[in-house]
Amino acid sequence: MFNPLDIGEDENFVRCRFLDCFVCCKETEMLLTQNDVKNIEQHGFKSDEFLLSKDDSDGFLQLKNKDSKLGTVCFFLNDNGKCGIYEYRPEGCRLYPLIINLDTNEEMIDEDCREKIWFTKQKYSKNQVTQINNLVIQLFLENDNY
Ligand code: SF4
Ligand code: SF4
Repeated sequence: MFNPLDIGEDENFVRCRFLDCFVCCKETEMLLTQNDVKNIEQHGFKSDEFLLSKDDSDGFLQLKNKDSKLGTVCFFLNDNGKCGIYEYRPEGCRLYPLIINLDTNEEMIDEDCREKIWFTKQKYSKNQVTQINNLVIQLFLENDNY
């Protein structure tokens, strides 16, 4: 049986994979850094295939959705409910459901996560908490409208 721990996956995300959950890949609003875009492009995708136009995303780089038999889902979600770019998915996808509440500037677990009770902030390392804060700063620095 496939074990994500074998590919060095973080224990938190093993839960999503064993649950076969892809709730957060439906109607995604995930934002990307320039580095995320570069990583994905290095695997043969063109940014205009998978990114919303900046006008549609308030100046942020944002994943596009597509219509599929699973509904409206991220451009990269396969019909079997698996991420097609799992090994090089954007940093925000790696850290989710840890997000930043922009009103309080605090880290929180996204209400939309199916397992929000299981994913507590304490399950994230100090390093990951630093990463989500740096990620948000980076996203705003790279936003053309700011
Ligand atoms: S890139 Fe992968 S993990 Fe991120 S939203 Fe799309 S399908 Fe889900
Ligand atoms: S909604 Fe929550 S449990 Fe489901 S895949 Fe996303 S992070 Fe994992």
